[in-house]
Amino acid sequence: MNKPHISFEFFPPQTPEGAEKLTAARKRLAALKPEFFSVTFGAGGSTQDRTLDTIRHIHAEGYQAAPHLSCVGSTRDNIGALLHTYKDLGIKRIVALRGDLPSGMASIGEFQYANELVSYIRAETGEHFHIEVAAYPEFHPQANSARDDLLNFKRKVDAGADSAITQYFYNADAYFRFVEEIRKLGVTIPVVPGIMPIVRYSQLARFSDTCGAEIPRWMRKTMESYGDDVESVQAFGCDVVTRMCEKLIAGGAPGLHFYTLNQANASLQILERLGYR
Ligand code: FAD
Repeated sequence: MNKPHISFEFFPPQTPEGAEKLTAARKRLAALKPEFFSVTFGAGGSTQDRTLDTIRHIHAEGYQAAPHLSCVGSTRDNIGALLHTYKDLGIKRIVALRGDLPSGMASIGEFQYANELVSYIRAETGEHFHIEVAAYPEFHPQANSARDDLLNFKRKVDAGADSAITQYFYNADAYFRFVEEIRKLGVTIPVVPGIMPIVRYSQLARFSDTCGAEIPRWMRKTMESYGDDVESVQAFGCDVVTRMCEKLIAGGAPGLHFYTLNQANASLQILERLGYR
């Protein structure tokens, strides 16, 4: 089977122990020669320093590091300063997002939507960065309509995005359909599926309810029936997600981006089954 490029996403650890564990996980994942490791950014700048620290570590280890940058609740000056810090460090790729305003934060800041951030990055730093944006095969939960969401996605591409990573999903047809629809709108950039391995059902169900990624009923029911039997949930998850990845690769997905939650095992198991060594 053809093997598209892979990438892995981390969140910035909060403690020195967390950072050590992440370094160990990264070492194992690095053996598969990913194209890049990305690091999330808490909206409103809540993880700004930790994201930057983690990016520095990854970059110093010799891997391609891609910081996420979310603009909601922020100012042009703040985002501009961070962009120049990353550029001076030698970072070449950015994942540009709107983010979600943390509860209690009153001001939306100087950017309302991610397309404005993409335009700003291009205006400030020209073609220096490869810009990734987010895509939603099952549509963003706040979108007025499916059509509007597709058109809003196109705005980010027109503003200068080079490629996209999707929200996770467990229904490959939603991804194929999304790609078909944006191609009809004239969007040609690669759209890489975001893959969420299944580690714990309760955590996944909570995430999915917030971000609008659907866990199909047959999957929910099966995982619920395993109760506290975490091994069975993980074995089931590994099977289902591996099969979906096979389908995505066979259907022409240009890459696979893994939401690792800072753990190597679940992603590695899937990738080994797909023939990555
Ligand atoms: P946008 O593209 O701005 O879209 C947000 C909503 O507004 C959509 O409903 C869209 O249809 C609508 N919209 C967009 N543009 C316009 C417009 N011009 N006019 C009217 N409506 C518009 N969050 C974080 O906080 N930190 C992270 O590190 C992070 N990483 C992520 C990585 C990936 C790959 C993905 C898929 C998501 C990530 N998120 C992260 C979550 C993301 O920030 C949220 O989903 C957020 O709600 C939307 O961000 P966006 O960049 O997709 O926003």
